[in-house]
Amino acid sequence: MIVMKFGGTSVESAEAIERVAKIVASRRDESPLVVVSAMAKVTDQLVAMGQLAASGEADASLQLFRSMRERHFLTANALLGSKRAASLAPKLDPHFAELENFLRGLAAVRELTPRGSDYLLSFGELLSSLIVADAFAIRGLNAAWVDSRSCLVTDATHTRALPQMTETREKSKKKIAPLLSKKKIPVMGGFIAATSAGVPTTLGRGGSDYSAAIIGAALDADRIEIWTDVEGMMTTDPRLCPEAKTIKQISFNEAAELAYFGAKVLHPATLLPAIHKNIPVYVLNSRNLKSTGTEITAHAPRSRDVFRAITAKTGVSIVNVVASRGIMVHGFLRSVFETMDRHSTSVDIVAISEVSMSFTMESKRLRKALLSELGEIADVTCDDKQAIVCLVGEDIHGKPGIAASVFNTIAAAEVNIRMISQGASELNISFVIQESDVPKAVQHLHAQFFSSSENTISRQTKNGSAKRARENGRGSSTPRVRSASASAVVVSSADLIS
Ligand code: ASP
Ligand code: MG
Repeated sequence: MIVMKFGGTSVESAEAIERVAKIVASRRDESPLVVVSAMAKVTDQLVAMGQLAASGEADASLQLFRSMRERHFLTANALLGSKRAASLAPKLDPHFAELENFLRGLAAVRELTPRGSDYLLSFGELLSSLIVADAFAIRGLNAAWVDSRSCLVTDATHTRALPQMTETREKSKKKIAPLLSKKKIPVMGGFIAATSAGVPTTLGRGGSDYSAAIIGAALDADRIEIWTDVEGMMTTDPRLCPEAKTIKQISFNEAAELAYFGAKVLHPATLLPAIHKNIPVYVLNSRNLKSTGTEITAHAPRSRDVFRAITAKTGVSIVNVVASRGIMVHGFLRSVFETMDRHSTSVDIVAISEVSMSFTMESKRLRKALLSELGEIADVTCDDKQAIVCLVGEDIHGKPGIAASVFNTIAAAEVNIRMISQGASELNISFVIQESDVPKAVQHLHAQFFSSSENTISRQTKNGSAKRARENGRGSSTPRVRSASASAVVVSSADLIS
């Protein structure tokens, strides 16, 4: 069996749900199970309704509620025709009635607890999954709606509950396996679950991917497909660099690194249950049925390119902390780190010497209180409007010359580097530049490391590897380095920009 998850934009309208039905029909022989998000923006609207009601603005809250209800009924009408939509209404109405009652109650007690919030947000996925299941049914797909709260069991950490896999496995096998063996297509809402006592929970915002991974792991799926509105993960942001292309295969660690440094497609931590069970995950485009997207696995095969992707994270500040003259350097770093700890500072890149330290963090998280406290033990300066450029790829491990090539490229782009970091895990090379230099830097790097023509690469790789072998001298060449033909791309593709 396979799990197919469709995000909010993939089910945002009748037209979008129509596309989803076609995509699912194209996989019907593989026993699909379908997980859907709430229709786009609905979860945000539920949050807003809750906030309004809890602050006593019942009318404004109920107005939002009515327009959300209308959107669902209009979508159902467009998908099902008025007669069939009328027969779905008795399944939707009780949910709307419950939601309306809840909002009225909230306006009376004026307190929205985490537990209440999970209950409130659960309506988005309940409603979308009911409509999608019915839309499938009248399009000849043998759909069966499944209440996620009866399969996915979590702890009681409301608003970001953690799955209890043993119970989840038991319950979902019992509920879902019989449906699959009858060739039914189970359709369920993502994001929502329940404790073993049946109290509704959610897996945290954006949690439908997580649901797909949990249910896929519980049922030993052959693969998990995450359908979204972009062509998988890209080698870089296509708005910065139109030559960006889809990454065909990527390892879980690389994908995690990319997400951390700014890629927005999905948070790979949510895929962990699937990765642990060695189930491949695909990120696919629901606007393109032929999409092959990106495959994420525990160990992705090596690619032709040295790196998998380049990301840029803007809105970063550099903080320089230099021990004041005359102050004992002994203990300097300890005091700096203790101060940072007191302010729960989470840093991206750090550079340290005996008497100074520079670190970067997101400007919006940088607090004046931290700077002034650091100012008591050191001279502190701060530069805003910086960006971290990060090149990710497991293949760089143990290959000489790659960092040199990165920095030569940046030099050729006439961009000044402020800080550099390459960790011992050698999964990425990151450096800090001015925000305004990002487009130039990323375009040069992309041209250097992701050449578009396959023929050019392989031809030049041969010449390049011979040249590199000569340049690298004899002594250092371990078998790994010698066989690392991909590193030759570093040399060869220099031609592309000069
Ligand atoms: N509907 C939920 C949200 O907007 C979950 C999801 O879409 O993944 O956060
Ligand atoms: Mg999402």
